Amino acid sequence: MTLNQIQSFAHGIGVSIEPSQVQMLDLYLDLLLDANAQFNLTRITDPAQIETRLIGDSLALVPHIPRAARSLLDVGSGGGVPGMPIAIARPRLEVTLMDATGKKVRFLGETAAVIGANNVTAVQARAEELARERDHRERYDVVTARAVARLATLIELALPFLRIGGRGIFPKGSAAEEELDEAAHAIRLLGGEARPVQESPVEGTRIVLIDKIRPTPSEFPRRTGIPNKTPLPG
Ligand code: SAM
Repeated sequence: MTLNQIQSFAHGIGVSIEPSQVQMLDLYLDLLLDANAQFNLTRITDPAQIETRLIGDSLALVPHIPRAARSLLDVGSGGGVPGMPIAIARPRLEVTLMDATGKKVRFLGETAAVIGANNVTAVQARAEELARERDHRERYDVVTARAVARLATLIELALPFLRIGGRGIFPKGSAAEEELDEAAHAIRLLGGEARPVQESPVEGTRIVLIDKIRPTPSEFPRRTGIPNKTPLPG
């Protein structure tokens, strides 16, 4: 993706970014591609595909972030998708990129410093544990997660972080509705309410939006590994 292509993709979906932000995105992509060659941050290996998919899937979420949102947590951020491009596009949003794997979190912290994304904090943690900490539970206006788990599991990992009135924004594949049906009970139980699934400008991606309308009961999330091993029944 050339600088012009990044800028026109962003404008095409209603995200206005300055040339300096386009430069940051471009530098981030270079660092991601380099790091990927070393330690497989993403399974996509074709550079052109990495660029369109990862930047596209990330920027496509920006129009769904409420204007008043001040904080965002990206659960299972890996190489920084979708959290890093969102942080670049919305510099006034405080963005926390969280992942369980130390080497990924080191990459995220170093990359944020190199590209000058001063609104980014990288945290190494398991979602199941971080969600029990006072500074993180029900503290975020927006939670994102891409390619981390099926929705029924993801809801349990992500919704505890949202304050009431906050929103979960999750890019999913073409089976998004099926996953939503499967997760309907978990969404209610954890205090969420699904909005209609949104189309994404990226082919093959749909966007699931969940509003947090009630507090999450204190028994959730269950112990580390359980949401994945035994998802809440539908
Ligand atoms: N979101 C990135 C993307 O779209 O390219 C990375 C996706 S990668 C397939 C899934 C990531 O989620 C991994 O980096 C893994 O370490 C992280 N992860 C999975 N379960 C997690 C949990 N319970 N807590 C924190 N991170 C988790």
